[in-house]
Amino acid sequence: MKIAIYPGSFDPITNGHVDIIERAVHIFDKVIVTVARNAEKSSPLFSPDERIALITETLSGLKNIEVDSFEGLMVDHAVKHDAVAAIRGLRALSDFEFEFKMALMNRNLNEEISTLFLMPHAKYTHVSSSMVREAASLGGNVSDYVPAHVDIALKEKYDHV
Ligand code: ADP
Repeated sequence: MKIAIYPGSFDPITNGHVDIIERAVHIFDKVIVTVARNAEKSSPLFSPDERIALITETLSGLKNIEVDSFEGLMVDHAVKHDAVAAIRGLRALSDFEFEFKMALMNRNLNEEISTLFLMPHAKYTHVSSSMVREAASLGGNVSDYVPAHVDIALKEKYDHV
């Protein structure tokens, strides 16, 4: 059984993340989507538990998925789950340098865990949680970029209901 983890902030989950997850479940027997609790940006919009709930609802129709969170080293969390790989999404060249360095650091921390990069559909290459948050905070329509219940959760957070 080949297991992968997909670590990230997911603040909140977007259709770009979903695209990557759908690709990953075709390759692995199980994918564990895992919310980083400690790699927090200074002030996250959604709490880790809120993010887990939004991810769980988003992925309820998909099989072979688990959702959890982790603190500490991503590679240690991967080992705990018997995962052989960490999935990361590559949107554009701008992601590359950071992701490249992180993949090499993680390999140094644990040679057994490979980082696997997947590219989303071109229509999601410009989508990021931070852009979605910013547009939503200003009352912009982000419904093309996030699942419907995430759109509602954003409106509630920003009081645009
Ligand atoms: P970070 O860990 O940098 O906060 P996120 O939580 O937003 O990143 O995302 C986790 C992973 O998903 C990262 O590898 C990121 O590059 C990738 N990702 C984010 N948005 C997209 C998207 N629109 N398309 C493909 N991959 C994405």
